[in-house]
Amino acid sequence: MRLRKDSKIEILTIGSELLTPYFQETNSQYLTQRLNDLGMEVSFKSVVGDDRENLLRAINEALSRSQIIIATGGLGPTKDDRTREAFAEALHRKLLFHKNILKKIEERFKRRGLSMPAVNRKQAYIIEGAAALKNKNGTAPGIWLEKEQQIIGLLPGPPHELKPMFEESVWPRLQKLSRFHVFRKVIKTASLTESQTETFITKLYPEDSSLQISTLACPGQIEIHLTARSEKSLAQAKNRVSRLEKKILERLKDHVFSSNGEELEEVVGRLLRSQKKTLAVAESCTGGLLGDRITNVPGSSYYFLQGIVAYSNQAKIDALGVKPAILIQQGAVSSEVAQAMARGIREKAESHYGLGITGIAGPSGGSPQKPVGLVYIALAWENGIEVVKNRFLGNREKIKFQASQIALDMLRERLQKKHKS
Ligand code: ATP
Ligand code: MG
Repeated sequence: MRLRKDSKIEILTIGSELLTPYFQETNSQYLTQRLNDLGMEVSFKSVVGDDRENLLRAINEALSRSQIIIATGGLGPTKDDRTREAFAEALHRKLLFHKNILKKIEERFKRRGLSMPAVNRKQAYIIEGAAALKNKNGTAPGIWLEKEQQIIGLLPGPPHELKPMFEESVWPRLQKLSRFHVFRKVIKTASLTESQTETFITKLYPEDSSLQISTLACPGQIEIHLTARSEKSLAQAKNRVSRLEKKILERLKDHVFSSNGEELEEVVGRLLRSQKKTLAVAESCTGGLLGDRITNVPGSSYYFLQGIVAYSNQAKIDALGVKPAILIQQGAVSSEVAQAMARGIREKAESHYGLGITGIAGPSGGSPQKPVGLVYIALAWENGIEVVKNRFLGNREKIKFQASQIALDMLRERLQKKHKS
């Protein structure tokens, strides 16, 4: 089968638990991302419970409108796992027993010192004419059916079973059908707003639909996604992205912290490590988030010496040596206190760099002079100090994240500047 230009692709996620507030449906996000990577757009996404009639209705709907249907979930051994049976019924095809699949399932249980429960026998049934897809991490094989005008893939629900199966067995099959080679790249900035980013790149939006720019604004981070498709080759798609990337980098310059997938804390970690510099942080309103993010990077012990959460005034005095007079005169949320915190932690930890953060994360505690979202961030180094005043929007969690983001980005810019000069 060759995919037509107007072919519709549909994802069907199956499981009653997905219709409750307790389980997050993430399989379709993952599948959409991977299909997009192949240059395939998804037209429909539905979630349906394990009820037989509803399931049949959803399957028939999908079969009536889409050329590629990928379903996840309901391939398990229990009675409420009905995906296999429902698809066979809707397709008017038999379920055929495969002795060799049963053997593999039995062996899987044996390896764990167990004997196979009788209910698992049903997982050895595959829709007539379909291929079984290997499941490395579970008992249920996937099912792949290619008809003249349609493709149907049934995959297991647990993400750790679905993903390896998709990568190993589904991706190569879909790649053969795709009309395009696709290359994608993400450019990330932390210190610009979405509209500032737009003004920088607005003239660069390509006319040609084989090359796309889309900006994604998350709190504290703007991502510019570049995607190129080529009917000819992957090299051509890569080349298109590289040319556009170069132009964007020329405009955004130092604002860009990554165009290779790295997160900001990884970039900062890499720079500190390669320059053999150390860091310590003093946090108030971020409550340890900055230290948490820094230490999420493997190898952070090479450069991260200490983090102190100094929440109360007394803690700022005792742990960081902030002078009581500054706290009284300027208030805890002030440029002076942020600087004293950054200097204090740097001296205490004997690190090359010290970061200090103090602010109001809300929702209460704000005033007209010092509103919620006001955060001072200071970076101290041997011969100098830099401080920025920020007005962040959003809830507590978002304000905390943005503060940690700006702190990391200040350090990133300093490390990169130093490196250049
Ligand atoms: P099993 O053999 O484990 O029963 P299965 O293929 O029947 O496999 P389900 O019973 O539908 O899969 O789902 C098992 C678990 O996998 C769910 O409880 C849920 O935690 C996770 N899961 C299923 N579908 C999704 C989904 N769309 N997104 C995220 N997680 C999911
Ligand atoms: Mg199940």
